Amino acid sequence: MAEKFRIENGLLLSDDQTIVRFTDGCTDEHSLIPGAHEAGEVVPCPDCDDEHRITSALVIPTAHNITIDRVEPEPEDEPEA
Ligand SMILES: [Zn+2]
Repeated sequence: MAEKFRIENGLLLSDDQTIVRFTDGCTDEHSLIPGAHEAGEVVPCPDCDDEHRITSALVIPTAHNITIDRVEPEPEDEPEA
């Protein structure tokens, strides 16, 4: 699958996943599906073997150019001697 990258606020982003609700879904829950999708599309359901029409979609971008240089240590609450 070809990934589409874009730069936003210095972050290299790709739209990898979408949280959707289905109009005729087998569940009222939100479903997380791979790829970027819009309301009105019919996509394979992650929860059953059927396909459903998306009623609302929220694309979740993934940032690819983040590096963690240093992890802040947990504050130690050792009692002072
Ligand atoms: Zn389903």
